[in-house]
Amino acid sequence: MSLDISEMTLSAAMDGLAQKDFSSVELVNAVRDAIAEKDENIGAYLAFDADTILQDASEADALRAKGDERCLLGIPIALKDLFNVEGQPCTCASKMLENYIAPFDATVISKIKAAGAFPAGRLNMDELAIGTTTENSAFKLTKNPVAPDRVPGGSSGGSAAAVAGGMALASLATDSGGSIRLPASYCGCVGFKPSYGRVSRYGVAPYASSLDQVGTMTKTVEDAAILLSAIAGCDQRDQTTHNVPVPDYREMLAGSSLEGLRIGVPREYFVDGVDSEVLDSVRAAIDKFAKAGAHVEEMSLPHTEYAISAYYICSTAEASSNLARLDGVRYGKRSVTDDRGDLNDMYFTSRTEGLGPDVKRRIIFGTFVLSSGRYEEYYVRALKVRTLVKQDFNEAFKKFDVLMTPVTAGVAHKFGETQNDPLKATLNDMFLAPVNMAGICGISIPCGKSSEGLPVGMQIIGPSFGEVTLLRAADACEKELGL
Ligand code: GLN
Repeated sequence: MSLDISEMTLSAAMDGLAQKDFSSVELVNAVRDAIAEKDENIGAYLAFDADTILQDASEADALRAKGDERCLLGIPIALKDLFNVEGQPCTCASKMLENYIAPFDATVISKIKAAGAFPAGRLNMDELAIGTTTENSAFKLTKNPVAPDRVPGGSSGGSAAAVAGGMALASLATDSGGSIRLPASYCGCVGFKPSYGRVSRYGVAPYASSLDQVGTMTKTVEDAAILLSAIAGCDQRDQTTHNVPVPDYREMLAGSSLEGLRIGVPREYFVDGVDSEVLDSVRAAIDKFAKAGAHVEEMSLPHTEYAISAYYICSTAEASSNLARLDGVRYGKRSVTDDRGDLNDMYFTSRTEGLGPDVKRRIIFGTFVLSSGRYEEYYVRALKVRTLVKQDFNEAFKKFDVLMTPVTAGVAHKFGETQNDPLKATLNDMFLAPVNMAGICGISIPCGKSSEGLPVGMQIIGPSFGEVTLLRAADACEKELGL
């Protein structure tokens, strides 16, 4: 029987390769078969270049035969399509970048390659990482593998759908305001956003630079820990990374336990408007943790209600600046205009044709909040709110090891429900964006199912560079829930 990767974890694949139960070529073929079988219905991948990937796999097999024992040797990792991989397209699911070929490897790509892994497929996403459903992709729709009439969440919808749908062992993605944690919760996998500065952003297409963070989409917390050890660390090419040692995060999970864990439950995250089934699932999980020996206490993060507005001001301001380079000259497809047209016509037409409506809306909004006369009123105020949000968390972590909340207000919804209602989409990020605003770490793990059988996720939040505490807590919770 051929290899089946649908339930296979990263850690199981590593063991299988090390014990020579199967080769990397067999593993990649199994991934390819899974994609061939399922992805026509799901649409998680934008591309899977089997020839190149099999080539990498066979090189890994040859190295292993010579005694190479690097931990990720021969492991295929799928990528949200915004990581530069030398010589390959990196479209960000935007028409603007349809023809862009990456001239170099992002630092995280160099790092996974150094650990023996290789890029294996480009995954669909909301255009330029802007959105919550993956419906903003310029190229295709991705369906939720659990319920194909529903969205997978976004912006890393392809990354979650590929992992949860059994078409990838694990994937790398980015999260600026929830883009990993939200689709993980909609699809039922583990989505992890490390602290700002833990993982290099060099070579990763930016959305909002002070909020963007590379993270992982996996089947288990252990797999997230394994990948974090491979990608984390200080990078001279990203001045916002910190020189903090990178432990073996998987080893640090040993003996993880709920006994004595101090869990804060912020009351501002359990409010009207959140689906009652989501609230019930998250509360039931927390009760279980208390029974298993955790100290659970309700607490307050008083500035929560302002965080999402401030997030949208900060993120769009930064997006308007970052995306200015997509002008058809420095980057992006140049639209042909009438010879007599001036430079502005060319910029205008390139952007009009190259970018989707949500991206344009964000750029316009971001330009507005940075314009003279509005800057103090909006942008500077949002920065002040950001500081307050951060202070709330700092205070909380004096008393608690981790905080637990719902990931988002509901379960995966049907297509089209938020497309004409950007405000509703915005509210989906209400419990997620504060974590990015504060630069701390957060993880989404499955904690139950709705009555319709849709996955419900819970968010666990840890302090800045508190990845060991966070992952240990999440690992213990995952075991306690047995999901
Ligand atoms: N949904 C959020 C937004 O559209 C977050 C995006 C992200 O994390 N990249 O701004």
